[in-house]
Amino acid sequence: AQDRKRKKQKPEKFTFEQIGGQDNSKQELREALDFLIKHEEIKKLGIRPLKGILLTGPPGTGKTLMAKAAAHYTDSIFVAASGSDFVEMYVGVGAGRIRDLFKDARARAAQEKKQSAIIFIDEIDVIGGKREGGQQREYDQTLNQLLTEMDGIYNNDEPRILVIAATNRKEMLDAALLRPGRFDRHIQVDLPDKKGRKHILELHAKSRPVAEHADLDRIAEEAYGFSGAQLESVMNEAAIYAMRDKQAVIDQQHLSRAIDKVMLGERTDRETSA
Ligand code: ATP
Repeated sequence: AQDRKRKKQKPEKFTFEQIGGQDNSKQELREALDFLIKHEEIKKLGIRPLKGILLTGPPGTGKTLMAKAAAHYTDSIFVAASGSDFVEMYVGVGAGRIRDLFKDARARAAQEKKQSAIIFIDEIDVIGGKREGGQQREYDQTLNQLLTEMDGIYNNDEPRILVIAATNRKEMLDAALLRPGRFDRHIQVDLPDKKGRKHILELHAKSRPVAEHADLDRIAEEAYGFSGAQLESVMNEAAIYAMRDKQAVIDQQHLSRAIDKVMLGERTDRETSA
């Protein structure tokens, strides 16, 4: 019991095995991360350190999970923020927050005796969008601060810092962010194919009482175009249907109804926001 207690207090760990589908993206990411791990070799060969990885793709496909798994894979501290956290009315506040983010990552790595830290910035487009016609925005300083911090990452740094950013709108990003030595490695995280969808459903079925005869292959087929986040919702909604039916297990019809529910929910969302 003591063991269990100790485990509970530890921050949640997330591994690549817990991410369904995305075989190519996971492989590409792992290869890139090996640069962080084999940094002595990299240094000897005079290869410049990998500072930034950009994960691109539609919402809910597992980009945040990938960044968390990256931290686990490299035994790094994980620090996360979202682009919208930096948008402030007052000039300079966002830039200060970026500085603190890097400072916090370094301090936590030192405290926990880790050799590397991964800083994850979701919705990078919010601070790193294109500057059109030379217009100044209140958060230009924020973007500049991020660039300054990234330019200040060196091979000999202890801890080593890697920034992983995510966006659904890569084409919106300012070219300054994509230059060599910044976010120069891009990994596409797409909607899962049928095999990927089945894998994701299986992962989310693990923690739920899904009937043995339930055909997840068929559910994966019916859930054409669904993201990982939507598939997680399907499992959750199916469990709610099971509860309403006073059933102890989730069966095929609960899952099928859940697909319609999630599909319809999305449509209503879109209609109301349009
Ligand atoms: P956004 O662009 O909206 O920030 P994202 O790509 O970062 O989305 P995540 O936050 O990683 O998506 O995923 C949201 C949730 O959806 C996860 O917590 C998980 O439950 C589920 N999910 C998404 N993709 C996968 C996947 N490939 N395997 C397992 N679960 C997934």
